[in-house]
Amino acid sequence: MAALQENRLGKLLDHAVQHIPYYQALNRYGGLAPAERLKAFPVMRKSEIRAHLDSLVQGGRSKLVSEKSSGSSGIQGEVFMSRREQFNAIAHQTFLWEWAGYKLGAPLLQLGITPDRSGIKSLKDRLLRTDYQPAFEIDSAIVKKALAGYRKKNAFFGGYASGLYTYALLAEGMGMEDIHFKAAISWGDKMFPHYREKIESVFHTRVFDTYGCTEGMMIAGQCEQGNYHILTPHVYLELLNEEGKEAPPGELGHVVVTRLDAFSMPLIRYYLGDLAIREAPDNQCACGRPFPMLRQIIGRDTDIVRTRSGKHLIVHFFTGIFEHIPEVRQFRVIQKTLDGIELEYIPGSTLFNPEVLENIQKKIEAKLGEPLAVSFREVSHIPATPSGKPQIIQSFIGS
Ligand SMILES: [Zn+2]
Repeated sequence: MAALQENRLGKLLDHAVQHIPYYQALNRYGGLAPAERLKAFPVMRKSEIRAHLDSLVQGGRSKLVSEKSSGSSGIQGEVFMSRREQFNAIAHQTFLWEWAGYKLGAPLLQLGITPDRSGIKSLKDRLLRTDYQPAFEIDSAIVKKALAGYRKKNAFFGGYASGLYTYALLAEGMGMEDIHFKAAISWGDKMFPHYREKIESVFHTRVFDTYGCTEGMMIAGQCEQGNYHILTPHVYLELLNEEGKEAPPGELGHVVVTRLDAFSMPLIRYYLGDLAIREAPDNQCACGRPFPMLRQIIGRDTDIVRTRSGKHLIVHFFTGIFEHIPEVRQFRVIQKTLDGIELEYIPGSTLFNPEVLENIQKKIEAKLGEPLAVSFREVSHIPATPSGKPQIIQSFIGS
């Protein structure tokens, strides 16, 4: 598998320097091994791609299809690919879904963002027995109606992690305890542990999370052992530390990904804005799949608080503290400098008093093992992210 990946990477880089204007200046690295040659290529952020779109596409864009990313980082990404490359991406997605037991044509309740299901999409939905429901308008009445037919344990449930979770919360609230799914397959946003627990308990099922991006890259998916395997024939994954060097297994790195089967517009060293941790290569999974593993997918790199001493605090650091503080209804951590954080909070009950804040400060420092400056600010509203999810951490420190 490693040789296959290396071979595909070499072909892609050859193609890029020969046919893609943006990369032609890199033609001088021909003698090196593909993984070494790759390091000469620049890391590409969405803004870089937008600025050089014309010189990144082979030939014209007219025969290509465009895929846009959701823009949850504030910048919308757009990439172009041929129909065949688009099919390949879907095939890899289906391959990951099969790890959950799914087969094409199995009944599927899918939450999606393309509400217009006319024409070919409606035909596809009928052929594949997909029951398509909107992911961004979810209320009790919609959930009750959508779930009514799912008492038989033979269907799959797929969608954004936050959408599946919202369905589970509302179904539980309405006492719908007799809904069963064979498996729940998630994508698109982060599958938090509390999302997973709720979905699995309410729908008597197991969650199989997948990790990819709408720009046509399926990066990893969970097997029945719960481990995330990297799809190495399809992507070359780098996890880079703050110096731009490969982070060793077990350490946090920025996700930079190269799609190995896209030639119309090669995506080489594409910066996703996520953080992840690689598993040590000698840790094998009991499932026997020949794909290396990610130990953890942490989420957006703007969702991390950093300390001057070099620690990284993820969302769970704070949710783990606040779940024991019922006096606070909602909170948000804002970081502008390495010297401390601002903590916005909405008081949750009449029990709230200033001692609650002292208690929070103590708990943060005890868990961190060092002092941290926290300035508290009472607010009446905390804005959601552009994608509608509650925002827990907002970091303004460039990474
Ligand atoms: Zn496995």
